[in-house]
Order: sequence, then structure tokens, then C-alpha cells
Amino acid sequence: MKILVINAGSSSLKYQLYNMTDESVLAKGLVERIGMDSSILTHKPTNKSEMTEVSEILEHTTAIRKVLHALTDKEHGVIDSIDEIDAVGHRVVHGGESFKESAVVTEEAKKEIRRLFDLAPLHNPPSMMGIKAAEVNMPSIPQVVVFDTAFHQTMPEKAYMYAIPRVLYSKYKVRRYGAHGTSHDYVSKEAAKFLDRPLEDLKIITCHIGNGASITAVQGGVSVDTSMGMTPLEGLMMGTRSGDLDPAIVPFVMNKEELTVNEVNSMLNKHSGLLAISGVSSDMREITEGMEKGDANSKLAFDMYTYRVRKYIGSYAAAMNGVDAIVFTAGVGENSTVLREQVLKELTFLGVEIDEALNAIRSGEPRRISTEQSKVEVLVIPTNEELVIARDTFRLVQ
Ligand code: ADP
Repeated sequence: MKILVINAGSSSLKYQLYNMTDESVLAKGLVERIGMDSSILTHKPTNKSEMTEVSEILEHTTAIRKVLHALTDKEHGVIDSIDEIDAVGHRVVHGGESFKESAVVTEEAKKEIRRLFDLAPLHNPPSMMGIKAAEVNMPSIPQVVVFDTAFHQTMPEKAYMYAIPRVLYSKYKVRRYGAHGTSHDYVSKEAAKFLDRPLEDLKIITCHIGNGASITAVQGGVSVDTSMGMTPLEGLMMGTRSGDLDPAIVPFVMNKEELTVNEVNSMLNKHSGLLAISGVSSDMREITEGMEKGDANSKLAFDMYTYRVRKYIGSYAAAMNGVDAIVFTAGVGENSTVLREQVLKELTFLGVEIDEALNAIRSGEPRRISTEQSKVEVLVIPTNEELVIARDTFRLVQ
């Protein structure tokens, strides 16, 4: 069975084609600058040469048509015909309380995703464009939606409710939903496999640290708390997002600077975080470089960022009354030796002991970076959100 995984953003569309017989990736790629004058398709077939095409792609339907052309192209293609694709799996950010797991796309499911636009105005509309575009191009192929929030639907009320008037929950469903669920789910399962211990017995803290970043407490295989909130803005400091702050700052700044709702949203989501404090970049590699060159603002950004990761690990160890394993994943978590070192070196009170040599190793494989004596296992596990989407799609359409 072959499954096409689609991750649609407002101006981009990422894809991967899986052969589920051995879960191998046949091709992957990306369409960028959708709706702008020169859109770029980058197609990377496994074992064949890469292809780049610049053209005008005004919306997602054309983007998917181009992707299907690339997948069936004589020279760069990996299948003979579109009919070889058995199902399409879509990443959707927000499933609200309606989707506790992945679902086959039906008219009812689409209606529900549309209802959730209110909760995720930046993220769900592009997902819907991706779904519609796939339906137009592949009308007879089943579609599945996989939600970033679904894994966190197991959180208890005490973790997901905000201490604000209850009417805001009953009227608008204002609560914590979390995100990066497919990643936290995947790496916690991989951690249990790596440790060769039953997932049901483990208390794991998973740190997904990429451009966006979130931490989850996974107890017995289910999410019991997570740092992102109703939207991905809460929790850790991120590349361009502020993470946690005193909510009173919002009306204060709006008042002083005469900002609109959109402007303050943009300030907190796009102009805060590492970028705002360093004044250099939202990219951890550049922050680290700046710090090494003695730039004080980069150092402050790095210290604030790592301090907050450490505080969350401490609080989730308290939430679960213990922790067996800490897992680092995603762009920064998998690659930044200095970030992991800075976070972990002051978790000795938990019995964490880091092996510097193991921490310095670079590999794309799951690995342990704690010493044999460490009371907590510390692992680096590359995430694979696309594979989770492909697996769920496979399971649901079979
Ligand atoms: P997202 O999926 O949220 O866009 P990723 O998980 O791909 O993000 O992570 C992207 C981020 O990973 C980049 O912004 C960069 O800061 C960081 N990153 C990648 N490689 C390294 C590295 N070697 N050292 C530190 N940070 C890195």
C-alpha cells in the first residue's frame, strides 16, 4: 500500500510518499511560495535525481497537481500512475475536543474542522485547503486527517482547564489542547522500545524543541500535561514566540502602544522569543554562534531559553511524581549538544547525569546520552511525524 502524506501551510505544502510494505519513503518534497509570483517545487525521489521547478502556483489545488506530476514524472517519478496511491494522510493542527484520534475524511469531519477555524485561525484553514486540493486531484482516493492535538486529549481536567470564568470554556471551549502530539506520541513509544521496557510502566518527559517547542509529561503512554495551550503560543520560549508571560502584559502593551488584536498577536507569535531577545535570529544555530563570539544578547536569549526548558522538566517530574526518561527531539533537541548540556547539567537533584562524550555524538539514530549511573535515562530520539501520519492513515483505510 502506498500513502501520500500532506502537510499544508498557508503558502507551503510538504509531502512524502510512503511504501507501507516496509515503511520506506519513495519520495518527498516541498512546494513553497504558493500564491506568490514564483513558486518553487522541490521534489526529492529516493535513489533518483532531485528536481526543482519554478512556476506560478496560485493555490493548493495546483500545488498538489504539480506534486502528482512530479511523482509520476518519467525521469524523477517513483510511481507509474496516480492510481498507485491508496490513501492520503493530512496533518491538521487543531482537532479541538471533537477529534480524540485520527479520522477518515467525511463531510461531517470537514464540517467539524471548519467549526474549529475559530480556535485555530492561523493553522486549520490551510489544512482544509490541502484536504480540498487532494480531493479535487484524487477524488476516489480515501483521505485521513491526523491531528496535532489528539494525543493530548487524555490530559485530566486539572491540567487542561484555565483558572478563568468557566463560561469561557462552555461557550468557546477555551482550554489547553497542546500540539506536536504526533511527535510526543512517537518519541515516547520509541523511548520505551529503546529502553526495552513496557510503556505502561514509564514516566517520560518528551522535549520537542524545534522552531516551535513544547514539552509533554507522558505517563503510562498517555499525555497527562503539555506546555502548549489553547494555541501554540504558551509554554517554552521559542524561535519567534514568547511562550509563557504574565497575561496582564497584553492589555498593558496594547494600551501603551495602541496595538490592535492582530498586531499584539503578531508581536507575540512572530516578533518575540529568541529573535526578540537576541536581536540576531530565531535560529538556534545563529544564537549559539553569536554566543561563542561573545554577543551578550545571544547569551541572554540562550540562557532564558534553556532555563525555561529546565523549569518545565522540573515541573513535569513533580506532576508525575517522578521521571524515568527525558527525551530530546526535533531540530534543536536532536542537534544542539550545547542546549542539552545546559539544560541537563543542573538537573542533578533529579539524579540526572549526562555523559559528555555521548552527548557530543551526532547521529540520526535513537541514542542514550546519560551515564550508566544516571537515575534518569536521557535519550535523543529523531522524531518522525510523517511516519505517524502514514501509519494512522494505513490503519484507518485498511
Ligand atoms: P519546525 O518543524 O518547528 O519548523 P524543526 O524541528 O525542523 O522545526 O527545527 C528547526 C530548527 O532547528 C531551526 O530553526 C534551527 O534553529 C534548529 N537547528 C537545526 N540544526 C541545528 C543545530 N545543528 N544546532 C542547533 N539548532 C539547530
